Amino acid sequence: MQTLILPIDEFSLEKSKNLIQNDKCVAFPTETVYGLAANAFSDEAVKSIFEIKGRPTDNPLIVHIHKDYDLSSLVSFIPEYAKMLAKAYLPGPLTMVYKSKGTVSKFVSCGLDTLAVRIPSHKGAQEFLKYINLPIAAPSANVSKHVSPVTAEHVFNDLNGKIEVVLDGGKCSGGIESTVLDCTGNEPCILRSGLITKEMIEKVVGSCLVYTPVEGEKVRSPGMKYKHYSPKCQTELFLFDEYDKAKELYINKNKNGVKAYILCDDETANIVGVENILNLGKTEEEIAMNLYDMLRIGESKADFIIAIAPKKQDGVMVGVMNRLTKACKS
Ligand code: AMP
Ligand code: MG
Repeated sequence: MQTLILPIDEFSLEKSKNLIQNDKCVAFPTETVYGLAANAFSDEAVKSIFEIKGRPTDNPLIVHIHKDYDLSSLVSFIPEYAKMLAKAYLPGPLTMVYKSKGTVSKFVSCGLDTLAVRIPSHKGAQEFLKYINLPIAAPSANVSKHVSPVTAEHVFNDLNGKIEVVLDGGKCSGGIESTVLDCTGNEPCILRSGLITKEMIEKVVGSCLVYTPVEGEKVRSPGMKYKHYSPKCQTELFLFDEYDKAKELYINKNKNGVKAYILCDDETANIVGVENILNLGKTEEEIAMNLYDMLRIGESKADFIIAIAPKKQDGVMVGVMNRLTKACKS
């Protein structure tokens, strides 16, 4: 099977609907990263997501719904603060975890009694979800542990031959996965940081916890324990104030015939002034948007990616640092 990359139109939506109704997966764009979609009601379809990706079977999936879909048919309790956050930030890059009604396949939540739900804002994603009119279980459309895809070509490079269709919605504008927010407690609690930041949540509801796993305790967001987002070449991460050490490593590597590239933001690129640069751009938004694209470009050109963390470490950069740290973990 050769995977087709198709523009989002009547033909590709109809084809996707047929595939989804027959328990097959389709890749589709969102504003964060591309997703690998399957009918959340179908055990067979949901199980095939794990097979196609090689995803660990204890890492639960996010269910994506159209903005007009009835959330209360899927989850049993929606606290007031969650309604306020939904009003402020949805559709958008915010996944909310609720007590599940158990109406979707049990394979979606991997045995948890909760369900993670997201309403993406990407125009193509909304068209797809409206046309299919089903809750769609979807993780990122990459081979497990590889860098998440932010273009249709990235999906093709990972999954060619494994799925029939990639819906092409251009380069994702967000660039890192959604913020995952636990909405089962008295206060919201961030399980995975992303583009909707702690500060943005606090602005709307006053307070927001951030989950940090405690040794020996069952992890609340199982995906967080896995190696993720890794390019295929060697990597090393330096803090911003260690840029001189990063430059020294770059020089040594290239002197010894190891093709090294430095991945950093525009400001740092100007400071280090080396030839092989993977430039993430200037603003926080650009840095998040370009991160996975640059990691994928990097692995195709470099033997070794030397990443330098951005100077700014709060807001959206919390999510960027989380991904960068995992990408550079050995
Ligand atoms: P991915 O789809 O690969 O971006 O990963 C989805 C993320 O959402 C992982 O970090 C999961 O652990 C998390 N997640 C999905 N469902 C739940 C849930 N019911 N409770 C907590 N975390 C969840
Ligand atoms: Mg993923």
